Amino acid sequence: MKLDCTQRMNKRFFIETFGCQMNKSDSELMAENLRAQGFSAAATEEDADIVIFNTCSVRNHAENRALSRIKAASVRKDQIIVVAGCMAQRIGTKIIDEGIASLIIGPYQTPIAGELLQLFFSSGQRVFLSQNTKDFHPRFNGVPSVKSAHFWHRWVTITHGCENFCAYCIVPYVRGKLISFPSATIVSYIELLASSGASEITLLGQNVNQYGQDSGDIPFFRLLEKAANVHGISKINFLTSHPKDFSRETLEVIRDYPNISRAIHLPLQSGSDRILCAMNRHYTTAHYYHIIADMERILGDYAISTDLIVGFPGETEEDFKMTLEMVRRIRFDEAFTYAYSPREGTAAFGLEETLSADEKTSRLNELIALQREISREKLIHRIDRREEVLVEAISKKSSEEVMGKTFLNHPVVLPGGSDDIGHMVKVKIVKVIGNTLYAERIP
Ligand code: SF4
Repeated sequence: MKLDCTQRMNKRFFIETFGCQMNKSDSELMAENLRAQGFSAAATEEDADIVIFNTCSVRNHAENRALSRIKAASVRKDQIIVVAGCMAQRIGTKIIDEGIASLIIGPYQTPIAGELLQLFFSSGQRVFLSQNTKDFHPRFNGVPSVKSAHFWHRWVTITHGCENFCAYCIVPYVRGKLISFPSATIVSYIELLASSGASEITLLGQNVNQYGQDSGDIPFFRLLEKAANVHGISKINFLTSHPKDFSRETLEVIRDYPNISRAIHLPLQSGSDRILCAMNRHYTTAHYYHIIADMERILGDYAISTDLIVGFPGETEEDFKMTLEMVRRIRFDEAFTYAYSPREGTAAFGLEETLSADEKTSRLNELIALQREISREKLIHRIDRREEVLVEAISKKSSEEVMGKTFLNHPVVLPGGSDDIGHMVKVKIVKVIGNTLYAERIP
């Protein structure tokens, strides 16, 4: 399809994002590059000339959902369908062959989606899946030209890719090797974001604790410290951590800087050492307990969330009970729980599944019920605490209330209005309804 410049400039795009925070961040970068190339955002998918699906490959379910959305969109023959992200990398050529998308862009090139669309219009090139270092594009597209609903918050990608090869995970195959961005560039970028009004940032990487290991740059805890020292940044989050690389120094930096979130996401995956070894996770449950003891000692007040997989091949009733026991002892604030689903191309794909779907569901339900109880008890424990809340939006239930998150990442509803959005407010927690804390404002 060849279009002249005027025809391209008038085109409107719509992006639908699947999966993790990394994809949300990549979608923002794509949108910025598209605008810089003269495209404009459409309000709805139907209004768009270009529909971009930024996809996830982590679970079968995520891929199937994206595929059915892509197929439904491909019926509208007047739109250009773009498939980007991890699923594009994994099965993009097949998608093009099936004729359900016009253009495929892998994770190395998503930040320049606008430029690739221009290339598509001028030359007809349809597949951009190189994982060659020379084709990798960093994640710093400058200050957004359009004020978003979450204008105070910016993602800051510090690493791309992963070389840990956890046995169940497709990420190293679709996102490629670990690439840490230079710390000086990251810090300058955060300074630029702060000077343009951002007050909250989230440092992103598949395993942020591995930052600098590939490039010999400063370790993660030093980068976190530098970010915390940037004037104007009042809240810093970081995702995701890996127990094998999580350091005591990171906890000490969190302790010393009140603008770093005390909510730590540390995927455990299983409470059985045998299963952790089979998952290629490179830590033991004893090591995990050791990190939790450090958190207690160094931080005192903190929130811990985790990821747990049930039904990994070979998981016995005994292994599962160990996971339950660990959940009971650690008392996570939140757990993202999954039944194991095999991903073609991963090391675990060839392993014989030892549980039926029903058995996995039954274990999953037991785990979810236990975690719900603990999560609620931990929320009740916050009553009467004084906290700071970063207000994010008007409450869905009342225009005289706003909702935000504490430094422990708990959702809170409090009296307020639109002027509070993007600002810190001091509150006292007064009650819990469902999974939400309710608070009153304090001076
Ligand atoms: S650390 Fe493991 S689970 Fe996380 S992205 Fe890398 S391979 Fe996947």
